[in-house]
Amino acid sequence: MKIKFLGAARTVTGSCYVIETDQARFAVDCGMHQGSDAIERRNLDVAPYDPARIDFFIITHAHIDHSGLLPRMAQQGFRGPIYATEPTGDLLKILLLDSAHIQEVEAAGKNKRLQRTGMKTDAVPLYTTKDAEAVMPFVKTRKYDEIFSPAPGIQVRFQDAGHILGAAIVELFIEENGSTTKLVFSGDIGRPHQLLMKEPSPVREADFLFMESTYGNRNHKGEQESLDELASAIRYSYRNREKVIIPAFAVERTQEVLYSLHLLLRDGKLPKDMPVYLDSPLAIKATEIFRRYHSYLDGETQTLLKNGEDPLRLPNLKMSTTTAESIRINETREPAIVISASGMANAGRIKHHLRHNLWRPGASIVFVGFQAEGTPGRRIVDGAKKIRIFNEDIAVQAKVFTINGFSAHAGQDQLLDWLKNFQSKAMQVFLVHGEFSAQEHLATLIREKFGLPVTIPEYLEEIRLKPGAQMEEIKQPKIAVPQVNLSPLLADLKTKLDDVGGKMGKFQYLSAAQQAAIADLLRQAALNIDEIKNKS
Ligand SMILES: [Zn+2]
Ligand SMILES: [Zn+2]
Repeated sequence: MKIKFLGAARTVTGSCYVIETDQARFAVDCGMHQGSDAIERRNLDVAPYDPARIDFFIITHAHIDHSGLLPRMAQQGFRGPIYATEPTGDLLKILLLDSAHIQEVEAAGKNKRLQRTGMKTDAVPLYTTKDAEAVMPFVKTRKYDEIFSPAPGIQVRFQDAGHILGAAIVELFIEENGSTTKLVFSGDIGRPHQLLMKEPSPVREADFLFMESTYGNRNHKGEQESLDELASAIRYSYRNREKVIIPAFAVERTQEVLYSLHLLLRDGKLPKDMPVYLDSPLAIKATEIFRRYHSYLDGETQTLLKNGEDPLRLPNLKMSTTTAESIRINETREPAIVISASGMANAGRIKHHLRHNLWRPGASIVFVGFQAEGTPGRRIVDGAKKIRIFNEDIAVQAKVFTINGFSAHAGQDQLLDWLKNFQSKAMQVFLVHGEFSAQEHLATLIREKFGLPVTIPEYLEEIRLKPGAQMEEIKQPKIAVPQVNLSPLLADLKTKLDDVGGKMGKFQYLSAAQQAAIADLLRQAALNIDEIKNKS
């Protein structure tokens, strides 16, 4: 059999692995590529997926970086079943429709901008609400621990990954020429001791393991320390009569934050007159889905719910569904906590809250999740002094907190603990879903501690897997990886800078307003160049 890495290879987004056996061609996960323009262009290029020839998908969990290209696949000819757990099926409905809506809004915005510059308005959404709706009838749900056979010679079992509601580890048993090879896809592995989720299930055997490595190079702070930090952000902004802004993914992180606020309120660390706004229609819907699946939640939460205590409810919780309600939050100058999406601040209502609060000394911005490279969230965490939001430079004067103890991902030690459960001596480990530096770090530890061979696949790399954990590379990754030639871009920039230098004399005859506009543009260019410098 062959496996091709179509995403989450040396990066965290776009998870998708296409597997070809002698009887079927199918894929595990179908994630959207998110981050820089070059990475996002991969969403457009459907040729490597060849959707019409994919027999079925197996989806580990509903996060968009694992499921977000399903509507694109349906639009381009995919017609097979999509296997997932029951909660994943429900979450897919709301997440894919939301994603389609974002695509439509972005394309419409781009066309408006093109129209104003007199250019052709030819931006089309990556996929539409209709495409997302077309996916739903294909979804077939399966329970944890149940073995099912989606094609001859292939058996699948989902195990609880402890990451988000319904998230699964996928065990694949593939029979070819009389021998069975076992592949395990970790999906995203949860952090043990999450408030709402159970612990990730141990798996004992595999010939080939495809393991996530998001936090391959670091550990999280402890749960109590994270709660204390959240309490100190609340104390700081309450004292300054400002807001605490929490960008959070709608699924899981939002509910984990609500649960944490519930605990803080119980301990008297959340002032009773400080309202909490849940400003995300998607997060509101997701919270309802959590309530539907008690048996998927961890033991302690189930006991609380049985005793009539709902950890996702707060007496001062206000849900804002409409845009008008969302706008009203920033019209009042009362101290408040605002939880809004997206979690990496690259889309959605959170951008408005950052525009209103990022520049306010006394306000707090609390990051509770992973911030991918190229996103505004990552720039703020990395210490940017200014951030461009809606074509405006906003100074970062609020206090920034990065609390990774709320993460839904296992930290480095926790990944190694999960790996320790495997008893197979000749297992091949592939590290996926991580930035390369984190993966190299984790690979070294795995080789040292367990003596297992580790491969870090590249985007579009293809590998033949043979029974007995033997493998052989099919395509040189160098051929597959699109190399970006940066030199002409730099040469072009230098010429343009020289042109600007030649015009400096003329600028002084322009109006004050025009000169101020030029100063702004130069400052922005300088900020961009600073950002490039910091990449090395
Ligand atoms: Zn995830
Ligand atoms: Zn993920």
